[in-house]
Amino acid sequence: MTQRDYDVIVVGSGFGSLFFLKRFLARSGNVRVALVEWGADRSPDEQTRDNSNSSRSLDQCHDEVGGKSWDYTVGLGGGTNCWWGQTPRFLPNDFRMRSTYGVLEDWPVQYDDLEPYYCDAEAIMQVAGAQAIEHIMPRSQPFPLPPHRLSTPDRIMAEACPEAFFPVSTARASQATANRNACCARVACSFCPVNAKFNAYNGMMDVIRDPRVDLFLNAEVRRIEHRGSVATGVVFRQGTREEQLKADLVVLGANAIQSPAILLRSDIQLPKTGRGLCEQLAYGVELKLENVDNFDGGTYTTGWHFGAYDGEHRKHAGATLIQVENHAKFGLRSEYGRWRHSLPLILNTEDIPQDQNRVTVTEAGKARVEFDDYSNYAKAGFEHAMSKMEQLFSALPVEDIVVHGQRETEHHLECSLRMGTDPKASVVDHIGLHHTVRNLLVVGSSVFPTCPPANPSLTIAAMSLRAADQLTS
Ligand SMILES: Cc1cc2nc3c(=O)[nH]c(=O)nc-3n(C[C@H](O)[C@H](O)[C@H](O)COP(=O)(O)OP(=O)(O)OC[C@H]3O[C@@H](n4cnc5c(N)ncnc54)[C@H](O)[C@@H]3O)c2cc1C
Ligand code: SF4
Repeated sequence: MTQRDYDVIVVGSGFGSLFFLKRFLARSGNVRVALVEWGADRSPDEQTRDNSNSSRSLDQCHDEVGGKSWDYTVGLGGGTNCWWGQTPRFLPNDFRMRSTYGVLEDWPVQYDDLEPYYCDAEAIMQVAGAQAIEHIMPRSQPFPLPPHRLSTPDRIMAEACPEAFFPVSTARASQATANRNACCARVACSFCPVNAKFNAYNGMMDVIRDPRVDLFLNAEVRRIEHRGSVATGVVFRQGTREEQLKADLVVLGANAIQSPAILLRSDIQLPKTGRGLCEQLAYGVELKLENVDNFDGGTYTTGWHFGAYDGEHRKHAGATLIQVENHAKFGLRSEYGRWRHSLPLILNTEDIPQDQNRVTVTEAGKARVEFDDYSNYAKAGFEHAMSKMEQLFSALPVEDIVVHGQRETEHHLECSLRMGTDPKASVVDHIGLHHTVRNLLVVGSSVFPTCPPANPSLTIAAMSLRAADQLTS
């Protein structure tokens, strides 16, 4: 085994890691950083050609028990490759569920603490959106790009419900920028053919190619070396070879399945390590419309309805974010001349992190996900949203509501190394530093204390920028 010394080792190169590193490098002088990535460097063109974001299949990366699938990309850039570019902020009440509704937990970080970092993350990703959304998510800066064109049903809804229905905010460009083209609503965002969506290749290469950074590819971090409460480095496997790197700070951003697996293999354990893995409960629902044509919007999904999101129901039923799809997700209608009289929706309902849904490791050290079920709170949240559906969309001529079934996964892994103050109930502190190994920072959605219905990656990015500021100030 060879050994090399660094100031910082960053494990993984997805959202959590790259946004941390971007701010950390900007605020540091002559530091030496090792960026250790399990996957390969495969450009978006190669990914499109192979119709795969990763050269590594997920069953090589983790085992699944319980019949539910989980999805992520192992490769340079991590989830920036496969993601579809939805960038909602969380709502202020998402961060204070215990004090507002008496359920779940309050985050040790509040909306106002994150707000400037949300703006910075939106600027880096060149997010398109409509200022009107500040009605429910206060904003100190305008969106970098204007919103996408709404579809006809969206326009009717936005006019009828200006307090709850808004154009999506998204890292799919609404107009050409210096390094991206405008989105053309092709709806294949994991393999965007026109380079409209933010990813590591069009937005983070300055970080990855920074001369202070040594990049290790096809390098699977097996464990974090530590002496008592001090992390001393990592051991990674590259082919049949093992290599050891030493550093003063280790940043763990290997996603919410692999990060806990690394901690478990390293014997850095707290009672909640790996426990509480969750994502939103999601359903596809279609509104059959009388005489309103759809699918004339400017990007793959165009509108959000927040009418079943925040409110008193959250005391006993999860919040639901309703996403309006601008493509024939459930097929065109078959009746003559009525092909586009359809409004496909995705309903995303928050879940509760539950101990029995967890990451462990096999005897051989492979990550293993055990999933029992979504919580009754999430199921009640979906029922609550469905019970309001007619009322929420009463501005449209809805002739039928069809539930197309539960979705296998929302592709969001969260909450397996939660942030909090009590080491018995959480794994990292308010910055992301491990409760016992104090020079080990965890980034990414594993540290979320709760699982709101909104997509996670903008919040991951904002939290990483904030952690880098706090560690360098
Ligand atoms: C199809 C799809 C669509 C999505 N769409 C959206 C969306 O529209 N909006 C949204 O907010 N989110 C979306 N997501 C989710 C988003 O991708 C994740 O929330 C995000 O990537 C999580 O960030 P992270 O930093 O926690 O992990 P990741 O971005 O997954 O980064 C983890 C990194 O660690 C590396 N790694 C893993 N294990 C090891 C190891 N042992 N050693 C070294 N490196 C390792 C991985 O290769 C990867 O580079 C989508 C996901 C998928 C799959
Ligand atoms: S909708 Fe099309 S153009 Fe827009 S980001 Fe997705 S694939 Fe790219």
